[in-house]
Amino acid sequence: MEALLKLPFFTDDQRAFARELNVNARQHDWPDPEGGDDAQALLSALKTLGKAGVLEHAVGEPWSMRTNVLAREVLAYHSGIADLAWAMQALGGVPLLIAGSDDQKAILSNAVTGEYCLGFAITEPDAGSDLSRLALRAELVGDSYILNGEKHLVSNVGVADYFVLFARISDDRRGISAFLLDTKLHGLSFEQQRPISPHPLGRITFNDVKLPASALIGAEGDGMKIALATLGRMRTTVAAAANGFARRAVDEALRHAKSRRMFGKTLGEQPIAQGILAEMQARLDASRLLTYRAAYEFDSGQERIPMQAGVAKWQSTENAQWIIDKALQLAGGMGALHGSIFERLYREIRPLRIYEGASEVQQIVIATEMLKE
Ligand SMILES: Cc1cc2nc3c(=O)[nH]c(=O)nc-3n(C[C@H](O)[C@H](O)[C@H](O)COP(=O)(O)OP(=O)(O)OC[C@H]3O[C@@H](n4cnc5c(N)ncnc54)[C@H](O)[C@@H]3O)c2cc1C
Repeated sequence: MEALLKLPFFTDDQRAFARELNVNARQHDWPDPEGGDDAQALLSALKTLGKAGVLEHAVGEPWSMRTNVLAREVLAYHSGIADLAWAMQALGGVPLLIAGSDDQKAILSNAVTGEYCLGFAITEPDAGSDLSRLALRAELVGDSYILNGEKHLVSNVGVADYFVLFARISDDRRGISAFLLDTKLHGLSFEQQRPISPHPLGRITFNDVKLPASALIGAEGDGMKIALATLGRMRTTVAAAANGFARRAVDEALRHAKSRRMFGKTLGEQPIAQGILAEMQARLDASRLLTYRAAYEFDSGQERIPMQAGVAKWQSTENAQWIIDKALQLAGGMGALHGSIFERLYREIRPLRIYEGASEVQQIVIATEMLKE
């Protein structure tokens, strides 16, 4: 971690934050979600992060991309569930920072401590990459919105106290609005979906759910703008999480390569294994540098960084998948057993290439920016 941390992307405070978080995260006994109760594991990790003050950076202002990128890289290195707890709190909190009313922002004081758990619900069975297809309906009746429809593949279903929710108020282009949804409301039902990595995820069904008009975030029709601004900001942090998983894989692969003996030498002394280790390191360095660049440019006042964030997310998540696959290969059969660190990382990295803009969506974003220039 140290070598790249010394580069001029970071301030001394940010370096100190990353070092301290790394020490604390290494020493902490993170809950193991593999036993089945990923919801409890997530809530426990959230409380730990709240107590340690880390969530102030996720849902507080000023919002530093560099601090948050370092937080996710460090957390993902040590614990996927800790990284997820951080990520979902930020994903639910950032829209409120961007466009929430004072009353809506008030919930952030409980989100910072980990007392409230947040989420972000936009995906529907018929609308994932193409968000213009959103169909969940919010109809203004008197001074309330009545919601009918469904969301799926939503993280923190069954755990979150509040979701930032996106729903359609009309059929035109500006027809999407954002709402703050209290999960205790009548008419909501939740159903778990199980992803390949430990992760509370599920479907939300809305049956005449009545939301007060004060739940609207920003103005009517601002939903797509708020969603894209949030996802645009979070994308660089997804890259950072991928780098954390990948850096762990490189360290574990190195440890294994140094000790495993075969053909009269260690695995690390076999030329083909050396080639693989070298490529792992090169890809990891490239990914981290791209991510730090995006974070630096965001913090330098460039709020919109579609090109830099797209390149960072696409390359970091794809490189991380490659690195983890090669690390598991070097670990041999033991690496493919349930419970090995390589197997865990192999499952944990996979959704990052899909959510918050799949790799193909990032390619489109990047090419569109290139063609504009
Ligand atoms: C673990 C996990 C957690 C998630 N958490 C949340 C959450 O908290 N909140 C939420 O709202 N959603 C969440 N999602 C949903 C996620 O954001 C969507 O799965 C994602 O946006 C892709 O949408 P989709 O699944 O409908 O795939 P589709 O949109 O059907 O896309 C399928 C595939 O098509 C390819 N593709 C897409 N566009 C193009 C294109 N233009 N050209 C070529 N190929 C293309 C991509 O490879 C993509 O993976 C989560 C998903 C997972 C797996």
